[in-house]
Amino acid sequence: MILMEATETVVVSAIINGEQVSTENQYPRENPANPDEIVGYGPMNTREDAVRAIEAAAAAFPAWSQTPVQERIRRMQRAIEGLKAASDRLIPLLCREHGKPLYDAGGEMFVTTMWMEHACSIAEEALREQVSVHEAGKTIITRDPIGVISAIFPWNYPLALSTIKIAPALLAGNTIVLKPSPYAPLAVSQAIEIIANEFPPGVVNMVHGGADVGVELTTNPLVSKVAFTGGTVTGRSIMKSAADTLKNVTLELGGNDAAVILPEFNVDDERAMRRLVISNFLTAGQICMIAKRIYVHRSIHEKFIDRYVQAANKWIRVGNPFNPDVTIGPVNNKRQLEYVQSLIRGAESHGAKVIPLGRILDPDLFERGYFMQPTLVLPVDYDDPIVVEEQFGPTVPVLPYDDEEQVISLVNNSIYGLTSSVWGDEEHALQVARRIQAGTTMINTAAVQGLDVRFPFGGVKQSGIGREYGVEGLTAYTELHVINIPAHGELPNIPE
Ligand code: NAD
Repeated sequence: MILMEATETVVVSAIINGEQVSTENQYPRENPANPDEIVGYGPMNTREDAVRAIEAAAAAFPAWSQTPVQERIRRMQRAIEGLKAASDRLIPLLCREHGKPLYDAGGEMFVTTMWMEHACSIAEEALREQVSVHEAGKTIITRDPIGVISAIFPWNYPLALSTIKIAPALLAGNTIVLKPSPYAPLAVSQAIEIIANEFPPGVVNMVHGGADVGVELTTNPLVSKVAFTGGTVTGRSIMKSAADTLKNVTLELGGNDAAVILPEFNVDDERAMRRLVISNFLTAGQICMIAKRIYVHRSIHEKFIDRYVQAANKWIRVGNPFNPDVTIGPVNNKRQLEYVQSLIRGAESHGAKVIPLGRILDPDLFERGYFMQPTLVLPVDYDDPIVVEEQFGPTVPVLPYDDEEQVISLVNNSIYGLTSSVWGDEEHALQVARRIQAGTTMINTAAVQGLDVRFPFGGVKQSGIGREYGVEGLTAYTELHVINIPAHGELPNIPE
């Protein structure tokens, strides 16, 4: 087992026009399992740095946009090889700065390269121009790159959520400026450096920093599209910032994904129950698409809770992310930890029962880090904040329902609509799934377990605008350009 203590302090820089740019003003990133340990430092870039990065991306755009797609694919494939070769270094670093266990960080790396490879495999076909010869002449539709892309992403899946933007943006011929979250900036900066090295200077740029850098990336007139993943509140302000110059936006925002347990669901099916537990607690619940509220048919509610607690007690083992027996690490940061704890306290004060889940493997570390005991919460009200808000942490509320109409209305009565899941007989679940307002609905599985990068992913309502993954996630980085060559080019009724 790798020890938590010791190992190097990592310092990452900005990348502007192919150069690593370091600055004296740096921010620290601590290890959430052991906050006394500083894992590394990121540069606190200024608004001027962001302007220089955007200008570099704009200067690189004309040549890069004219580079043949085969050449773009070749470079991306070399970048993927580079990431794979560096995974022994990137995975433990992500583990240390983020708090997710080693298997989980490895899973993120796997999804990261899987999507990049898939994007390479579909790029030629998805970007090919369409030519139609018809009675009125000939029409050519090309998929042109949009221009400079600002890509802003959160801390929970930094490798996956940066490359979900980098791969399609570059394959389609755009240039990019990225900004990581200060809560997990290190592994992703090293990954972006590996990628940037495979492309001409200015094609891949990166700056770090706070709101002022974010504002520059979302308002600068040279930026044509903002690709953002993060919270809904930030998403709203980004959309406002982007409005002045009418930028194209993709917004992947928060969710409050419901799991609906139908009356025929077999609570004694241990595998299914384990799958449900994982869909609530993977990455300590800090995933946009985690199942964040469970509605169980009243006829099986009591038995369900009993079996759920059994399954959770088996699977949940909280502790040092480097311990291979651990399934859940700490919460990523103190602010998030306190927010989740306050939701649980609030529910308790409104009469909810709170059931602790799982085992704490390392009590000393638990006291030091941003750890919390995972819980199942049985709220009294359907509109308790722990049910209505996105918790983004290791807790999940379970509530009974009486009939299908009621549960569909409970699920849909939310500002969010990212993913959802229905558990029971497949046909029955499919009928219910069709009535749920969400970008994705999974049957008898949920969260990343049911994710497939070949198909589009995104939210409805205030969970977002646009799609990532799949062909749609690639063409989202293009503009359609129609070139018409009419046979006559004149309207018949115009007088001579
Ligand atoms: P956040 O919105 O606080 O931050 C996201 C990013 O935006 C960070 O890099 C942050 O530095 C930057 N930022 C903050 N203010 C900004 C501004 N005014 N202008 C420009 N950039 C700004 O989100 P977070 O706490 O890092 O991440 C958690 C949230 O992300 C959750 O709500 C989760 O559901 C959501 N998320 C959504 C998806 C999805 O695909 N829909 C995936 C993962 C996470």
